[in-house]
Amino acid sequence: MTDKLYLKALRVPTDEDPLRILVSACLLGTLCGYDGSAYGEYPGVLKLLHYPTVKLIKFCPENHSFGTPREMCDIHGGTGFDVLDGKAKVLTESGIDWSEGMIKASEEMLKVAQANDLELAIMMDVSAACGSQVIYDGNRFGAKKAYQIGAGVAAAQLMRAGFKVISQRDYASLEILYLKINSTHQVDTKAKDHHETDWYKEYFKLSLSN
Ligand code: SF4
Repeated sequence: MTDKLYLKALRVPTDEDPLRILVSACLLGTLCGYDGSAYGEYPGVLKLLHYPTVKLIKFCPENHSFGTPREMCDIHGGTGFDVLDGKAKVLTESGIDWSEGMIKASEEMLKVAQANDLELAIMMDVSAACGSQVIYDGNRFGAKKAYQIGAGVAAAQLMRAGFKVISQRDYASLEILYLKINSTHQVDTKAKDHHETDWYKEYFKLSLSN
């Protein structure tokens, strides 16, 4: 089921029975980024803090396994699914293999999702842990910096278990979510999900008319 159809099919929550949403902790302002920052502000997600019809659960997989601050890491040789299957590796900037710790972190995030009977996850795209639409293809530093379509390790773990994961850049899906949790929300009909943007289509050489 596409993200938009899934969001449209979500139940209408109440204050007494809010939607249970797991969010990358940095997207809610937790200073858990590799450099001790929250990677800036994400108003489209922070807005969720103001709705009683939402129960937010936040988690940072990399902080769980590696602490903060820490090295930056990327997936080499595949996507988060491949890391889970032992076919790709998570390497830090200095070349340390973090694959095992990242898989453990993803398993912990899955436990949190299951314990909270999660209905949706909103995760930080492009992260080796939390990316859900796009991630780096190998090391993000240097001349060979490149992106690939795919999920990070923690997002892949959640997806494999059947949870729906969207990113903070899936603006059209977020609009559907906001209408679900607030019936007076004015939907921005021009909003696009990440995979619908011109950047995404041009970078991955997809038809711009798709
Ligand atoms: S691992 Fe996820 S939650 Fe933690 S800082 Fe990176 S993107 Fe944010």
